[in-house]
Amino acid sequence: MKKALQIKVVGVVQGVGFRPFVYRLAETLSLTGWVFNSSEGVKIYLEGTEENLLFFLEKLKKEAPPLSQIYHLEIQEVPYEGLEDFKILKSEEKGKIELDILPDLGICKDCLLELFQREDRRYRYPFITCVNCGPRFSILEKIPYERENTTMKFFPLCPSCKEEYENPLNRRFHAEPIACPVCGPYLELYSGEGAKLASSEKALELSQKYLKEGKILAVKGLTGFHLVARADDPQVIEILRSRKRRSKKPFAVMFRDITQLENYVELTDEDKRLLLSPQAPILLLPDKGLLPANLNEGLNTLGVFLPYTPLHHLLLRDLPFPLIVTSGNFSDEPIVFENEEALSRLSQIADYLLLHNRPIKRGLDDSVIKRSGTFYIFIRRARGYTPLPIFLKLSTKKVILAVGAQERSTFSLAFKNKIISSHHLGDIEDVISLSHFERCVYDFLKLYGIWPEIIVSDLHPRYETTRWALEFSQKEGIPLIQLQHHLAHIYSVLAEKGEIPEEEVLGVSWDGTGYGLDKTIWGGEFFLIRGLHFERIFTLRPFSLIGGEKALKDTRRIALSLLFEIFGEEALSLDLPFLKTLRESEVLMFYQAWKRKINSPSTTSIGRLFDGFSALLGICYYNTYSGEAPMRLEKLYQPNFKEAYPFSIKEGFYIDWEEVIREVLRDFSNPSACATKFINGLARIILEIAKLSGVRKVVLSGGVFMNGPLMLETLRLLKEEGFETLRNELFPPNDGGISLGQAFYGVLKLNFDPPLP
Ligand code: ZN
Ligand code: ZN
Ligand code: FE
Repeated sequence: MKKALQIKVVGVVQGVGFRPFVYRLAETLSLTGWVFNSSEGVKIYLEGTEENLLFFLEKLKKEAPPLSQIYHLEIQEVPYEGLEDFKILKSEEKGKIELDILPDLGICKDCLLELFQREDRRYRYPFITCVNCGPRFSILEKIPYERENTTMKFFPLCPSCKEEYENPLNRRFHAEPIACPVCGPYLELYSGEGAKLASSEKALELSQKYLKEGKILAVKGLTGFHLVARADDPQVIEILRSRKRRSKKPFAVMFRDITQLENYVELTDEDKRLLLSPQAPILLLPDKGLLPANLNEGLNTLGVFLPYTPLHHLLLRDLPFPLIVTSGNFSDEPIVFENEEALSRLSQIADYLLLHNRPIKRGLDDSVIKRSGTFYIFIRRARGYTPLPIFLKLSTKKVILAVGAQERSTFSLAFKNKIISSHHLGDIEDVISLSHFERCVYDFLKLYGIWPEIIVSDLHPRYETTRWALEFSQKEGIPLIQLQHHLAHIYSVLAEKGEIPEEEVLGVSWDGTGYGLDKTIWGGEFFLIRGLHFERIFTLRPFSLIGGEKALKDTRRIALSLLFEIFGEEALSLDLPFLKTLRESEVLMFYQAWKRKINSPSTTSIGRLFDGFSALLGICYYNTYSGEAPMRLEKLYQPNFKEAYPFSIKEGFYIDWEEVIREVLRDFSNPSACATKFINGLARIILEIAKLSGVRKVVLSGGVFMNGPLMLETLRLLKEEGFETLRNELFPPNDGGISLGQAFYGVLKLNFDPPLP
């Protein structure tokens, strides 16, 4: 007795070889019917014996292609039609869009093997790819994911490629971006002046020659341009720094393979797995110090990654040194991804440009993850991860657009039962970066075919994104919700879990700076949170940022402010190394500004306390990039030293740092011990407040938790005392996660306003 089933598979099931897999499975089980891609997911119709149909369902989940993710299956028994064979049908164009788009993927093992096989017709072809690897999101113009909807539409398949594309048993069956030297994109090398020098194999050969000579190249990669140079020459690094206008911020280095990499950093098995994964992120790992110091001055971590495109493999294979591979842009600007822009702008940095003619539809930076102990902390989420969604255990009634913060900007969209966050968009501080932000928002809205019905922003009136949200809400006549920055950090962790936060939690939001509900600058906050309810129960004892914005860079202003709070005018006569780097008149001027509160706003930021503390110890007087001082402090941390500074609780609301500063003045001759005691002390005060709070669940977020030792020590102490801890695992704890938190808050607000009882 034969039966028939109709199955809908929802999840990441397109562009991953799902249909050929279904085809092969049906064939082996003598089932007939069809399969096709619809905008709702993969649809399957199957006929056969009951036993074989059950086998099919079992194997569908168990043996699905490695890159696919089945979120759910809808199975229905339908009338038996008596079909004779199994077919793969053409995709359906219309319909609702419920599909998830796959991120861009690093080259797979099979393609890598073929790349260096002399007899393969894609031998040394820089655009070799198959259904298991290659570009996805970055070449997509609209869904469904089909070749004619990607930038590969400009390359009609040659007969050989077409045969592979149409053969369900081939690894390249319906692999949309496939190509070969006959029909596909090719390389071209240009001089900085814009003259075409060579193409294809010759372009590669010359590129390697120039790299050996210490030249800087702009190389078009998978999702954007990189600036590339040899990583072993301090002079080359200095030239790149001055041209890119990036004085000290560390550069990432790409290594030929694991064997080469192992000499330079300390690697665990899990690190290797991550580095070799299709996401191929940059990992910040303990540096063995074999490369020039000006790559990552003052830090003990090195950002490393492995070749993830055929082009990277071809470039690195015969080079005797690793390469700096850093985003192709000027400091903090969006990554360049179009040939024309590269030729006009990156040529100011690069001596040569290695271009190709496969257009990139949207540019994404490399993702960055830091390992501390056995924990991984996202620093930047982009290529390889965007646009995978977060799934919620509740649905949103309306489409929500959350615009994020201003630094490390991202935006998020909540619709149906998910939140999709954009890739890292850099800092938004001027008209150019704001218009880039706006273009990206419209790009996502168009791609997913949705339009916002609610918009969520930060509370900061001077964030460009807040102003933009206000304008958008007025123009479109949709409501605007504003969420305090540090609450958004905590909600970003809750969002990752996707659950309704019914249980009360302690949210520890430790951060650089964010706009507070009392209009001062917050960043050392403890909240009790339940659903939409929150109460701010503790914060850091406030101090002044002398000179406002200037104090974010010049850490000595913060050190002085802490000293003025404790000693008043007497601080002027203290004998401290950092004071000697300032003129007496400057110190006096800072004192007057502090005393009269002239351009010296008050803050409760732990991030700024870190800054002041490093100035006091003489570790870092000036942040040339965001987070420099705390990162330098982190380098000094000694994991086996368990002493801690006595942070205390004052007036039942403030964490007091006065005794800590007094102790530092007594023993700052050993900066390493001081740094360790400082971090341990901060972890202990979190534990103390957790105990006072009366809740069992502690949520940690905010940029300060990019600090590995602090995160590790805090988790250790809390777990030891039986607390349940939650932290960002899939998103950055820094402002890159703000839009996720905002979007989730929006979803809760729609579902539970009026709030939970
Ligand atoms: Zn492949
Ligand atoms: Zn071809
Ligand atoms: Fe923040």
